[in-house]
Amino acid sequence: MKDCESAAFSNGLKKTKQRSAILEILQKNSQPVSAEQIFLELSEKKISASLSTVYRSLEAMAQKGVVTKINISSEGKALFELNTNMHRHYLVCLGCKKIIALDYCPLEGYEKKLEGETDFFIVGHRLDIFGYCPECRKKSGS
Ligand SMILES: [Zn+2]
Ligand SMILES: [Zn+2]
Repeated sequence: MKDCESAAFSNGLKKTKQRSAILEILQKNSQPVSAEQIFLELSEKKISASLSTVYRSLEAMAQKGVVTKINISSEGKALFELNTNMHRHYLVCLGCKKIIALDYCPLEGYEKKLEGETDFFIVGHRLDIFGYCPECRKKSGS
C-alpha cells in the first residue's frame, strides 16, 4: 500500500490527507468507483472533504495518470479506478449505469490471429460490453 502511495505522489501530485485516503479507497476496491461512493467512504472514515473536493482530487490524479477516469456512457457518471496500466474491458449496465471491470481480455488470441490474417501490426483495441445487470433485469422483469 505504501509503495503505490509514494509512486502516486512522486510525480508532482501534492499529497494531502484526502488524496491519500482516496487512493486507499481506490486500492481497496477492485471495481471502478464513483466520486459519490468515495465521498461516502471518506465520511465513514471521518475524513472531511466536500464532494467537489473529491472530484477535483480525482481529476488531478487522473491528469497525473495515477487514476483512470472511465466515462463510457454519455449520460452516466464518470467512474474512477487506480491506474494499474492494465488493459481493461468493461461491462456496462444501461439501466443503472454500473460499470464492472472484466479481469481478463478475451481478444488476445484474436489479435494474434488477425495479425496473421491481415499483416497488420496491432497495437491495441477497445471493447466495452453493454447490457442490463441482474438487479435491473429483476426490476424490469425481463
Ligand atoms: Zn443495472
Ligand atoms: Zn482487450
